Amino acid sequence: DHLGGFCLDEYKLIPAQAPFRDPEMNSISAAVSAVASNNLITVHASSFVVSISGQPGEFQVKLNSEGEFKEFKSGAIIMATGSHPYDAEKLTELGIQYENVISSAEFEQMAKSGNIQRKDGTPALNIGFIQCAGSRTPEHLPYCSGTCCMDSLKQAAYIREQNPDAKAHIIYRDMRTPGLYEDFYRTRQDDPGVFLTQGDVVGVNETESKNIAIDVDNTLFGEPVTMEMDLVVLAVGQVPSTMKGESALNLQYRQGPDLPELKYGYPDSHFICFPYETRRTGIYAVGSVRQPMDINDAKLDATGAALKAIQAMELTDQGKTVHPRVGDLTFPEFALSRCTSCKRCTEECPFGVLEVDDKGMPLPNPARCRSCGICMGSCPVQIISFKDSSPNIFKEMMTSYEMPDEFDEKPRVLIFVCENDALPVFDMAALERLKINTNVRIMPMRCLGGTNLIYVTDALSFGYDGIMFMGCAFGDDYQCHFVNGSELANMRLSKVQETIGRLNLEPERVRQYAISMNDYEKLPKIIDDFVEELEDFGPNPFKGM
Ligand code: SF4
Ligand code: SF4
Repeated sequence: DHLGGFCLDEYKLIPAQAPFRDPEMNSISAAVSAVASNNLITVHASSFVVSISGQPGEFQVKLNSEGEFKEFKSGAIIMATGSHPYDAEKLTELGIQYENVISSAEFEQMAKSGNIQRKDGTPALNIGFIQCAGSRTPEHLPYCSGTCCMDSLKQAAYIREQNPDAKAHIIYRDMRTPGLYEDFYRTRQDDPGVFLTQGDVVGVNETESKNIAIDVDNTLFGEPVTMEMDLVVLAVGQVPSTMKGESALNLQYRQGPDLPELKYGYPDSHFICFPYETRRTGIYAVGSVRQPMDINDAKLDATGAALKAIQAMELTDQGKTVHPRVGDLTFPEFALSRCTSCKRCTEECPFGVLEVDDKGMPLPNPARCRSCGICMGSCPVQIISFKDSSPNIFKEMMTSYEMPDEFDEKPRVLIFVCENDALPVFDMAALERLKINTNVRIMPMRCLGGTNLIYVTDALSFGYDGIMFMGCAFGDDYQCHFVNGSELANMRLSKVQETIGRLNLEPERVRQYAISMNDYEKLPKIIDDFVEELEDFGPNPFKGM
């Protein structure tokens, strides 16, 4: 119901500028006022999104503002719905059921009130912080929340500032204070009233006097220790707002109302090369809903997302695609008179471009398209093409190479190469003057996901003895520029390998390789090994069939 979110209520903030030694005054309310008073910005408070339809440059947004419906157009969307602290009530193994164990969010408010005390109102003089409370723990949050170390160091500073006789004891597994935050850490380390203990918390118990005894194992001393505290703070982690189970966007897309997510509710993006891009073109997730991050990183993130939103609007206004084929003017064309309405293209497009019309045929939203060609690879009747790339063009290319009859110039190998990761590997090998087997022919592709199964049968029929597909890594740590193109290619190839096997041809004649730039030195050997295997198999008997 108001701007500023969780951070607005923080007592102080971790430092954003040099010398990075002490907490800073909370300046969020000033930022909120600046936004509210900017006449180019309209704030719709107490509102939720009923629906978003359309495409970049012309999204249609419908809001419910306290019962009143509002509609407007938007060129791009930024989702900054933040995160909430992990529910500390679930941390009974860390003693949350005891009256003198509280969460870091509760401690922040306690420090803000100026009364750091126990439940019975007596001052807390020894305050313990248990780090990674729930984070990096498979049964709670398997990931590092990224901010709790800095938050506890900040809260230790509150303790020392409000009562010089009070002591802070931080028990941590690893202290993660990247970059210049190291100076913030060192300042606390140099404070004689702040004690930092590395170890694993193996037990938390309440004593008769309602103190809290923390058992710590694997300490740097080598011996288990028990630390008795007046008050214990659990440094709980972040949970993205997407885990609340309500859609913030309510996208009217055939592929679902939300941004596709990674494992823990964080939106999927190309986290290695273009982390701001989600799988819905023109829609950008930012801040702690995108990945665990602190407020300073969230501010930078917001700047990045705003620039991406501007870029998306400018490019779509010019009829061009956005990342990673920035400026491409070619889009898939559908020969719909031959469409069988199988809807495979609408399901395999990673970016939710294709809706379905009332006849069950694909209905493209070109401004959502990134021109990857994956739909072209998915279509079983090969009716999807681009002006400069199509099943026919690939067939022309592969059959324009000379195919010798004599086996002494064979085996001939066709390599489909993704232009994003694999083609630069060939470039690098060439720059390094590495010798590549002369019997291979190379066909660059927008993405291996554009591989249509017909290419394999066409190539075998033309006389190639083996076919290699080289593209980006797939799986959890995928590098595919189009998210799952290389994975889709792999699924399709496993089917074609089965078919080849049933025809008594060696399935190993068709193989996919995940390759990246640092593999360039291995490239000649990878190809030579494949060629050697083909020599053992003998010539392809399906030539001309
Ligand atoms: S080219 Fe790629 S992004 Fe565009 S519709 Fe086809 S699969 Fe989707
Ligand atoms: S994959 Fe091809 S046949 Fe199937 S719906 Fe899409 S265009 Fe039509």
